[in-house]
Formats: sequence, C-alpha cells, structure tokens
Amino acid sequence: RVIDRITEPFAVDVQQSIGQIRLGVSIGIAVIPEDGTDATVLLRNADAAMYRAKERGNHFVFFTEDINSMAIQRLVIEHGVRRALSRNEFRLYYQPIVNAAGEIESMEALARWDHPERGIISPAVFLDAVDDVGLTVPFGTWVLSVACRDLARIRKNSRPDLRVSVNLAPAQLDQPGIAEIIEKTLARHSLDGSALTLELTESAIMENPERSLRKIEAIRRLNPGVTIAIDDFGTGYSSLAYLTNYPVDGLKIDRTFVSRLSSESNAKVVNTIIDLGIILNLTIVAEGVETAEQLSTLVEHRCRLFQGYYFHRPAPLDEYESMVSVRPG
Ligand code: C2E
Ligand code: CA
Ligand code: CA
Repeated sequence: RVIDRITEPFAVDVQQSIGQIRLGVSIGIAVIPEDGTDATVLLRNADAAMYRAKERGNHFVFFTEDINSMAIQRLVIEHGVRRALSRNEFRLYYQPIVNAAGEIESMEALARWDHPERGIISPAVFLDAVDDVGLTVPFGTWVLSVACRDLARIRKNSRPDLRVSVNLAPAQLDQPGIAEIIEKTLARHSLDGSALTLELTESAIMENPERSLRKIEAIRRLNPGVTIAIDDFGTGYSSLAYLTNYPVDGLKIDRTFVSRLSSESNAKVVNTIIDLGIILNLTIVAEGVETAEQLSTLVEHRCRLFQGYYFHRPAPLDEYESMVSVRPG
C-alpha cells in the first residue's frame, strides 16, 4: 500500500504548465529479532534488502541471509575496484563486428577485471561498483585510451580502415571537456575520427535528451569522423521524433530482441527497427547473434552487421589480431 500511494503521479506547476511527476520507491525490510536486535545491524540489513528492491524498481524486499552474502560480495567488489585501476587490473577484450560474409568491419572494446584471486570478472558485476566509488570517469578515460592505442597498432600493421567501438557511460558524457578528451586521445595515437564509434545506451541518452544532444554535438564538432551509435536499442523509450533529429549514425539492436527472433511478433519489431534504420540512413548492428537461424532471419530483414557468439566471443586482442588483418572484400 505504501508503494502504491507513493508511486501515484501528482501534478506540478512548472513554469506555468502543468506536468506530472511520479516518484519511485524501493523498500528494504529487516525484522526484529530475526534480522538483528540492535539498530546498526537492523539498518545495515534493511539497507542490503533495499538494494535488492532497487534492482527490481518499486518493490519491497525482506532481508534474508542470501541478501547478506550478496551485500558482502558487493563490499568486497567495491573495496577491490578502488585499487584495480592503480594496480592495472582492468583489461580490454574485443568482440568483432562482422558482415554477413563474416568479415570483420570493426570491434567493440569490452572491459574485464582481471582480479588477482577471482580471475576474470564481467563488467556486469563491477561497473556499478566503479560508479558507486566515483571512478566512472577515470575508468572510462582508461578504456578510451587503451582502445585507441590497440587500434592504432592494428591500423598501422594491417587494417588502416578498422574501427573500434567504445562504450561511453552517462557520467562520461556529462564530464566537462569530454569532446576535448576524445580529441586529445585520438591525437595522442595519431588517429583521426574515423577510427572511433562511441556507444551510448538509449536510456542514458533519454535521461536528458537535450543535454545529451549538446554533448554529442560538441563531440562531433571537435572530432569529425567519430560516429555515435545508440546501444541496447529497443530497451529504452526513445521517441521517433528524437531519433529523426538526433545526430546519431547507428543503432545496435539489443540482444533480447535477437534472442527472441523466433517469435513472430518479436521478429516484426526487429524488422521495423531495421526498416526505420535504413530509412534514417543509420548503420544497424544486431547484437547477441548466437545461431545460424538468427543470422539468416536478420539477413532476410536486410540487416548487414552482426555481433555475437555465433561469430566471435569477446577475447583479448592477440586472439583476433591475425583474423582482423583480413580486409572485407
Ligand atoms: P553491451 O555494450 O551491450 O555489450 C555487449 C554484451 O553482450 C557484452 O557483455 C558481450 O560479451 C555480450 N555478448 C556478445 N555477444 C553475445 C551473444 O551472442 N550472446 C550473449 N548472451 N551475449 C553476448 P559484457 O562484455 O559482459 O558487457 C556487458 C555490458 O557492460 C556491456 O553491454 C556494456 O554496457 C558494459 N560495458 C562493457 N565494457 C564497458 C566499458 O568499457 N565502459 C562502459 N561504460 N561500459 C562497458
Ligand atoms: Ca555496447
Ligand atoms: Ca548493447
């Protein structure tokens, strides 16, 4: 009942026009005496339960032991992540983006944490911690710089046309001088803008479309040739009006759509996204292609770039270097 009441929209008067605001609420619950008998323990446990509730959004969650171990894991990760940058424990993996013939046209840089005890850890596990400890910007700068360094080497050795895609976190886009940082990083590795695609998630852009627009324009102005792709397309809510006017060059169809291509209604959605992309002259990449059937359906729908386990898994650069040297015919 508390959640229902709090999430009811209410009207506000913003500069003489009435708007609606909706609050989100997540509740973590700890019970006396099972979950603790003093305030410190109870609050800590309620807080851990609240994190679980937040993941689902507008939910309440009772504390359990299982949550406790997740909270401990979270602390361990947060603690380690602070030192990971200075100790050089982050790595970049690359996943090729290929055409229907399997020829590599570009690659996406995907971060990994090479933890001294736990081995390779996925970004899904540590990126939130990076954000929580306020390291998103230095981490992102590191990713950009290593990706440019690696690409510069491949461009020099074998593939002057290859591009690299780098994921840009919302906090990086908001960072003052991001356009200049990109410019300097490219220059440091003697690369021009055509080397780089920046991937921004749809939800990050839509959080503040006007502000994102100004930032994207500044990046493009200072770095001619750099392209912008909307990542995880279809999972957020971008209006068509925005898409048609937005200075983006490409869309990446989220892998949840690709994985459900066998459903007819879902295939229609994918088909529509591709048609839309073609009309707007956007480069479309289908993510998470795992099977030959998915590939052939996508090809039928006129998609021409693919990324997924069916072709290649993300891997350290040396595993791809010989393969990458083959230029698309
Ligand atoms: P993303 O940008 O959507 O990246 C694609 C994710 O899908 C990668 O997960 C990749 O390993 C996975 N993937 C690729 N092909 C397949 C497939 O065929 N099947 C399945 N099931 N999965 C596939 P990964 O590397 O774990 O990265 C997860 C997310 O973390 C990325 O999603 C991206 O949002 C974020 N991320 C990764 N590296 C960075 C980074 O350097 N900076 C920022 N800001 N975010 C990053
Ligand atoms: Ca991406
Ligand atoms: Ca994606």
